Amino acid sequence: MHWVDAVARDLLEKSEKHRIATGISPSGPIHLGNLREMVTADVIRKALVDAGGEAEIFYIADDVDQLRKRYPFLPKEYENFVGKPLFRIPDPKGCHESYSEHFLEPFLNSLDDLGIDVQVYRASEMYEKGMYREAIKIALKRKDDIARIISEVTGRKIEKDWSPFMPICEGCGKIITTKVIDFDESKIYYICTCGNSGNVGYNGGGKLTWRVDWVARWTILKITCEPFGKDHAAAGGSYDTGVRISREIYNYEPPYPVPYEWVHIKGMGVAKKSRGIVVAVEDVVETFPPEIIRYLFMRVRPERHIEFEPTDILDLFDEFEEKLRKKDRGAELSLVSKISYSEVPFRHVVVLGQIANWDVEKVLNMLKRSGYSIERSDVERKLSYAKKWLERFAPENLKFKISEKIEVEFDNDERTFLCSFAEKLNELMSAEEIHALVYEVSREVKVDPSKAFKAIYKAILNRDHGPRIGYFIRSLGVDWFRERIAFLCQR
Ligand SMILES: [Zn+2]
Ligand SMILES: [Zn+2]
Repeated sequence: MHWVDAVARDLLEKSEKHRIATGISPSGPIHLGNLREMVTADVIRKALVDAGGEAEIFYIADDVDQLRKRYPFLPKEYENFVGKPLFRIPDPKGCHESYSEHFLEPFLNSLDDLGIDVQVYRASEMYEKGMYREAIKIALKRKDDIARIISEVTGRKIEKDWSPFMPICEGCGKIITTKVIDFDESKIYYICTCGNSGNVGYNGGGKLTWRVDWVARWTILKITCEPFGKDHAAAGGSYDTGVRISREIYNYEPPYPVPYEWVHIKGMGVAKKSRGIVVAVEDVVETFPPEIIRYLFMRVRPERHIEFEPTDILDLFDEFEEKLRKKDRGAELSLVSKISYSEVPFRHVVVLGQIANWDVEKVLNMLKRSGYSIERSDVERKLSYAKKWLERFAPENLKFKISEKIEVEFDNDERTFLCSFAEKLNELMSAEEIHALVYEVSREVKVDPSKAFKAIYKAILNRDHGPRIGYFIRSLGVDWFRERIAFLCQR
């Protein structure tokens, strides 16, 4: 049984209807790793529906969280906003209503592209509308019990004047510098290190501290399942305290936990250096097909670490299509819409697109010549992703341009090899046969095979490396290759 179906089975034993929570603090560009949470939630929803249940996903944007520091991508004056809630900080680029909206909007658009339907809640709105009102009152009244639970679970000493509520100071606008000194039925009284003191209301005057806030939203939105990063799942982490606070303070059964491991993106190479930022979700979503992004998370269990390199897409595509043909559950859960795949490997499309300068008809002709049964829409779609991937993420050695003429010199060995090789090539050879022919001819003419391969690349690309030879020559056409080097062989 697939792990997603096992989660769905466990959940359905408790109830038929489920409410799955997700949430990310929009404090900067939202990363690919954060998508794991969203994809995990979505496949659980799908599995629940497939098994006859009902489910919806909630996305809670923690926009009342404070700006923790001036991140490298922020201008100097953002020093002044450190400690203030994200929804009250201006957009660093000036295009949105607030700092948090600037990062939230592209992320939510990406969820659309990935076919993940969520109900979006902003913590700022939930607080302002009074949704947290009762939860705050309970937390303030039972703060000593909460402090005791946190202390028992984490082993941390909680200070006597600790409060589960963080008022936003009306003087300096910060949320981390205030201290609650008293409360009544309608107001919470505080002092601030800026020298200000005053009171705020229960609706939008501040927020609960994370460990209590998380539990409060379970009870407010009636959450029954939640995927979350492994830091929350660690012993003594916020899920452990959450379970006890939920049961002992709020009398609410905590949601079914689905902890997941981090996603590590390595070797961003050129793309990262030239752009100077980490890869945001929207960049990945524009460059990779949604089902492949989803499959990246679905091919392993949530507790498995993922190392991802943008060149992995070449293998990932092949693996995905193969698994889909075998009706693999993880691959099927990754699909967002119905797509007719032909058996044209993505890596071939990457090569053909460059040979044909992205002319669809030319590519289709080359594929026909190679004997592929073609699904036009699939080839067109792969071509558009291949082009974007090459522009944004592909390493330099996979990019090439067929030069109009040969501009490099060849020594005698190279000439001898190329001319006998061309003579023995024929149109009926498969890519593998062409590849084998390189070895065969190089043996005959006593030229080192690596020198032979380099000679071919030089003749096509004016450089000594390129795509796999067999398929490359097959795609270019044997005749084309013969004509290309003909001038070397005239005596
Ligand atoms: Zn903006
Ligand atoms: Zn203040």
